[in-house]
Formats: sequence, structure tokens, C-alpha cells
Amino acid sequence: MSGSRAAVAYGLARDAHAVSRALDLDGDALRARASRRLRALLDAAARAPFHASRMRDAGLLRAHALPDSELSAALAALAPVTKRELRDAGPAAFDGGRISGSWFSSLSSGSSGEPFRVHYTPRAWATLKHLVKLRSRRAAGMRLTDRVAILDAVALEQEGVSPLERAGRVRRISVFRPAAQVAAALAAFRPDVIYALPSALLEVARAHDDGAPRGGARHIFTSGELLTAAARITIERSFGAKLSDVYGTSETKEIAWECSAGSRHVNADVVLAEILADDGSVAPAGAEGDIVVTLLVNSAMPLVRYRTGDRGAILAGDCSCGRASPLLGVVLGREVDVLELPDGSTRSPYSLTMLLERIPALVQYQVVQTERDVLRVTAIAARDADRDELSRSITDALRGDLPPDVRIEVVLADHLSRGARAKIRVVQPLAAAQ
Ligand SMILES: [Zn+2]
Repeated sequence: MSGSRAAVAYGLARDAHAVSRALDLDGDALRARASRRLRALLDAAARAPFHASRMRDAGLLRAHALPDSELSAALAALAPVTKRELRDAGPAAFDGGRISGSWFSSLSSGSSGEPFRVHYTPRAWATLKHLVKLRSRRAAGMRLTDRVAILDAVALEQEGVSPLERAGRVRRISVFRPAAQVAAALAAFRPDVIYALPSALLEVARAHDDGAPRGGARHIFTSGELLTAAARITIERSFGAKLSDVYGTSETKEIAWECSAGSRHVNADVVLAEILADDGSVAPAGAEGDIVVTLLVNSAMPLVRYRTGDRGAILAGDCSCGRASPLLGVVLGREVDVLELPDGSTRSPYSLTMLLERIPALVQYQVVQTERDVLRVTAIAARDADRDELSRSITDALRGDLPPDVRIEVVLADHLSRGARAKIRVVQPLAAAQ
């Protein structure tokens, strides 16, 4: 991160009211705001050589002249872009073709392990890193005075050193500590709110069961991994807290947040989310596909139809909370995690997790393709579950979807192995396991 703090402070002051009020906009006003921002973004993209040539090929260079009704169809002519393409483009993907000293940036590693840096204008940074997060936390019931514990993939010596932590209201706790130590640190800090990966909270919940002290919290926010229905129940019961799940990526920041009615609302004023079918067309409501997003407020390094690598669906219908923003269905699975089976067929992580999601006694799991014809499911059972029956349920659930020559091994465990940034990779194909 670089850039000017004064410019961010200005962005915060200038946009705080509009960003917070955007949650209450009706559908027409929300779409109008998104269209206006999309036009401005495309103007910035046309100043970046990498995007300009792609937009020319798609006939999109004069998008600012199109009426709202034609804008989304015009955008659909533009091929989606991957992290690798943007990384290879370098400064050609920046507004004006070069970096500015006033920009902020963040670096992501991701499951591929290749670092990728995204640059933001100070105003976009203020909106995406601060205002959008703040409004969804506040809508979920968080207060400005809350004490916040963050279970994070930080080295032990990095705990407690940031300015916010020294001020006393925030505490980072390393997930590399044993779960009993994490539980003890939470109990000592007494947070009102906890941010964490679901897997880290499940480990603490098991430590609670084994007698570790319960710190409690009023609200828990999870992100970064698949959250199963069973995991949600286990975590809420163990901590006595309400849980809300957030979906985002380190490049785009938060894409969708969970309201108190349990729906995941897209932050449609700052990000346009599209679901693409396998043939590249925009999928209809309810249909699963690749999540592709356009970040509407950042002109520094435009992300236009950017492939998140995740799968999901835009749901039909409205949320009972009354907010007009689109609803995002289950989000999981990196595209690269597709399994190739001995008969030449493939399975998406989504299809496997949908089958396993239906098993109530299965709290957490990981599917690893150890051989081309062997899938090993490491499973963590609910506390009162019949373990033999759980093993059978897992085998039966997957059996119906897999060729007969694929062997299914089920291992009941207390712990799953962690990957990059301490995340649990739910489905791991053969190539990645080697
Ligand atoms: Zn809602």
C-alpha cells in the first residue's frame, strides 16, 4: 500500500453519505447509478492500451454514447479477462498506460501462488476498503464502538503490532496458533465481533468442546472459504453469535454481503456481477456459472469483466429485507479445481459439494483426488453424528455422480490441512495434489 492518506480521507468524507445510502436505493436508481459508473469506467479503460485494443475488437469504444438499455448487451461482446492476462499486460492495463504515485495497491497470492498486484485510485480505495465494508457491517448490526477480533494468517510476531491494535479495539490472532490458544486469546480479548475463515472458527469450536474458555461475541463475519450449512450451525451454537458470510476477492474487495434475512446482496453500486455459462454467454437467473465482475469505481487499473475464478449464480426473486440489489447464490470452487476422471469426463467442485452439502452430519470436508481414479474425502463429523453412517452417506452421495471405476475413500478426521493464506481448499484435483 502506498498513496496519500489525505486523499483517502478526502474520499471518505466525500463519499460516505452516498455509499451508505446506496443500500436503500430502489432497483431503477441502483441500475442508473451502475450504468453511469460503467460508462466512466469504460472511458478510463479506453485510455489503457491493453483494454483499448480489446474494446476496439468488441466494438465497445463508443460505449459512453449508448443508452442504458443497450449497455449490458454491448459489454457482453467484450471477452472476459483473467488474472494472468492482466498480470502479463503490466502497465498497459493501467489508465494512461503507466502507474501513478498517488495510487494504492494490494497484492494477492491466490491458490495459484503467483502474486498479482491491483492498483486503485485513492477515492476507489476509500470506497472499497472502508465505506462499502462499513455499510454492510453496520447493516448487519455492528457498532462503531465494537471490539473486533480478526483470526488471520499472520505470523505470531505480527500479532498486536498495527496502530489499530495498539489503540485497543482490534486484535489480530494468528490462525497458526493451536486452536486452544486461539480460544484463550479470544476469551482474554472479549470481542463483540469476530472476523475469520470458517475453518478457523470450527477449530476453535472443537477446542470449546474440549474445555477451552468461551470468549463469545455478538456477531461473526466469515469469508474466504466455502461455508456449509452444518458449519454455520456449529459456529453459531459454539460462539452463541449470529454469523454473516461475505464474498469477495482480494482484487475486487467485497462483492456481496449477507443481510439479516440471510441473502447475499451484490454491492451493485460499486461492482457489476455477471454469471457466464460454459459457452461464454450470460447465464439466466438461477443458473450456475463463472462469476465475472466489473469493478465500477476504480479507474486506475480497470477490472472489466474480470474472471474471479469462482462459481455461483444470480438468484431470481427478491429478498424479504426489501433491498433491491441482486442476490448471489452459493459461491465456491476455483475453476482450476475441476477434476478430470479416468473416463475423460470432468466434475466441477460445485457438483461434488452440492451432493455433500445435503448431509447434515457433515460439518466440514475436503475432497482430494489422490490418484486419477481415487477420491479421498476427509470429513469432520458433527459432534453427535453416527460416524459409520456418515461415511456411508458420503460414499452414497458421491457414488451416484461418479463413474464406477472411481474409488471413494472416506477418512474421518479432526483437522484439515491448510493451503495458501491458511485457507482450506475444499476440492483438490490430482495435478494440484502432486
Ligand atoms: Zn436482504
